[in-house]
Amino acid sequence: MSHFGNEKIINDLVDKCAEKKIPLEGLFICPYCDQPAEWVENKEIYGKNYGKSVMVWLCRPCDAYVGCHNNTKKPLGIMADIELRTWKNKAHHIFDKQWKGRKRKFRVMAYKRLDEHFGFEVHIGESDVKMCKKIIEFCTEYEQAV
Ligand SMILES: [Zn+2]
Repeated sequence: MSHFGNEKIINDLVDKCAEKKIPLEGLFICPYCDQPAEWVENKEIYGKNYGKSVMVWLCRPCDAYVGCHNNTKKPLGIMADIELRTWKNKAHHIFDKQWKGRKRKFRVMAYKRLDEHFGFEVHIGESDVKMCKKIIEFCTEYEQAV
């Protein structure tokens, strides 16, 4: 892509932000449609505000969103559309089965197994589809092994 091509994309974005009254500072772009997301309270999604940190980045056309850290504009991971949310739910479901309803140490152990397998600290909530699939695969293999 040429330099001018990039410039056109940026100019378009600036126009769109002006149109939607989104400040350019702290701009967040939806990874699914490349349009600026809106920084809104999570009642826009759930009907009422949930949690202490209620701010989210939301892309209405894609039905994609991500929560923010302590009501700042800092996103917690990547924006999730319906596909990613489904995969995250599946990953959480199969992973949580390994410790839910058991003593606290089983939860610690389950997370430790994940971290050791992948070689880094795993956060299902911040994972992408590919990572969710890997987590599901690992948990399935573990379930069959025990
Ligand atoms: Zn979008």
